[in-house]
Amino acid sequence: MSRSWEGGSTRAWRKLRAWVLNRDSHRCQLRLPGCTTIATHVHHLRGKQHGDDPTYLAAACAHCNLATGDVSGHDPAPQPRTRW
Ligand SMILES: [Zn+2]
Repeated sequence: MSRSWEGGSTRAWRKLRAWVLNRDSHRCQLRLPGCTTIATHVHHLRGKQHGDDPTYLAAACAHCNLATGDVSGHDPAPQPRTRW
């Protein structure tokens, strides 16, 4: 859809990220091996085509977010670990 997500630092994104972190109590929802549990990032569960839908966003620690490859821009395999 929009390419505006590529920067990852729009006002709308910062606001949404804060909302997701608060919803998930700043706890990592991915819990991969090596997880720090303290969420400071927001992970795109289905890739960035759903970038503005909180349903597909989950709080994630830096370790897990990087481990899933989210920052590289390609879509990671869905991780069906989070139940909504
Ligand atoms: Zn984690």
